[in-house]
Amino acid sequence: MNFSSMGLSAQILQAVTAQGYDEPSAIQAQAIPAVLEGHDVMAAAQTGTGKTAGFTLPILERLSAGKRAGSKQARTLVLTPTRELAAQVHASVETYGKYLPLTSAVVFGGVKIKPQMARLNRGVDVLVATPGRLLDLYNQQAVRFDHLEILVLDEADRMLDMGFLPDIRRILAALPRQRQNLLFSATFSKEIRTFAKTLVNNPVEISVTPRNATANTVEQHIHPVDKARKAELLLHLVKTRQLSQVLVFSRTKHGANKLAKKLENAGIRSSAIHGNKSQGARTKALAQFKAGKVQVLVATDIAARGLDIQQLPYVVNFDLPNVPEDYVHRIGRTGRAGMTGEAFSLVSADEIQQLVDIERLTQKAFTREIVDGFDPVHTVPLSAPSGGKKKPTGGSGHKRGGKPAFGKTGGGHHTSKKKHGGHKPFHKGGKAQSEGESTAGKPKQTSADGQRQSQSQAPKAGAVSPTQRRNRRRRKAAQAAGKQGNSGNHSGQSPYGSAR
Ligand code: AMP
Repeated sequence: MNFSSMGLSAQILQAVTAQGYDEPSAIQAQAIPAVLEGHDVMAAAQTGTGKTAGFTLPILERLSAGKRAGSKQARTLVLTPTRELAAQVHASVETYGKYLPLTSAVVFGGVKIKPQMARLNRGVDVLVATPGRLLDLYNQQAVRFDHLEILVLDEADRMLDMGFLPDIRRILAALPRQRQNLLFSATFSKEIRTFAKTLVNNPVEISVTPRNATANTVEQHIHPVDKARKAELLLHLVKTRQLSQVLVFSRTKHGANKLAKKLENAGIRSSAIHGNKSQGARTKALAQFKAGKVQVLVATDIAARGLDIQQLPYVVNFDLPNVPEDYVHRIGRTGRAGMTGEAFSLVSADEIQQLVDIERLTQKAFTREIVDGFDPVHTVPLSAPSGGKKKPTGGSGHKRGGKPAFGKTGGGHHTSKKKHGGHKPFHKGGKAQSEGESTAGKPKQTSADGQRQSQSQAPKAGAVSPTQRRNRRRRKAAQAAGKQGNSGNHSGQSPYGSAR
């Protein structure tokens, strides 16, 4: 399959060629024909798979055929959860549409509304927007949707996570009923599926990666460490491993600021981006990071959403996210477009539940690597009961060069056209991704220099035994009672045992 056989116009092909794309990615190979044929689409696709071009190219093709937008009208609406992603998608629309006479605009909060109103007054073929600002503009009658042809919900899972559902419902009520709907989501929770059913009509369903899987071009490291020494370990990794361009995730805005300051004080050029920073400050920090002027960008999940930094080589989870799906999103920042990347998670004893949740979601049992000199005093408990009969599912994904997102399509990809109603729009992720190296026995814990430390055991994804549940409750109660962090001592009392 190549772009020229997909029915795209010469102007679009020219723009694609200028980007240096040789062949369509898996999602593009499936989404482009479906959108061109006018179908609704539901796609499970992570960032980094080329999904933006997957919907933008055929949309531009379809829009080229129709009448230009009238004053205040938008012919296509792309909704995204964050300002950064909106800016990103809009940049793609401009890039792919640069040889076409179509118009586009992007609107989001945090910047002046008046220029946006002026721009919309002229009408746009493609409007990219975040929900809050769009509603604001709509309520002020700056934009109308009488001639809306296509609606795209990008990163729908995030929009729901971020509480945009009421805004989205209000927006949907303002749109014509007759339209094409395209829904993209990295993960498909029950909530998303329920919402999707109210939106799409007899959709073509596309899934290019197993649900909730992390890209297999990303090498994932789990480094157990005491909470108090995380910043020190991060510095150590950045310096000794010469991490040139690192995106670091912090759970809190305050934590992001503090960490960026600490790194700066240690002589590493760093910035923080989060929701409390002005749009201008965020854009500047991102531009400096992209240009290599800032080595470490510390971000919260919301701020980092949608960042497309070509070939970002390193991601660090300074804190594990509370929502396991965020881990998938974070890891999606690296290993993009078939490139390889590395992700480092600094895990302290109190984050065991987050680790367990991530292992369940991604169906991976991570090998833990203790970095020399950073042995935790508070040992991170094992993530599954010891002594059970469960078979380990593999290591930490150390295998490189798995199926690239931009490789050939087929095998494992799924496209179907089904009647909508009652059925589950996506297959359940039943089969574990065969990413880990197969291990004859239990996965070994190794130090960063490869020395064996001790053994851990893989959880069986999704399965929680009554014993596990009881022990989880006990552990929570123990933590609440202030015993947290002493997990190294509780072998014999807890099935989570000691990791060392
Ligand atoms: P996305 O998943 O849309 O965020 O795209 C991820 C990255 O892949 C972007 O940097 C795109 O420029 C790039 N990309 C999109 N389509 C292709 C393609 N067919 N071949 C190579 N790179 C691509």
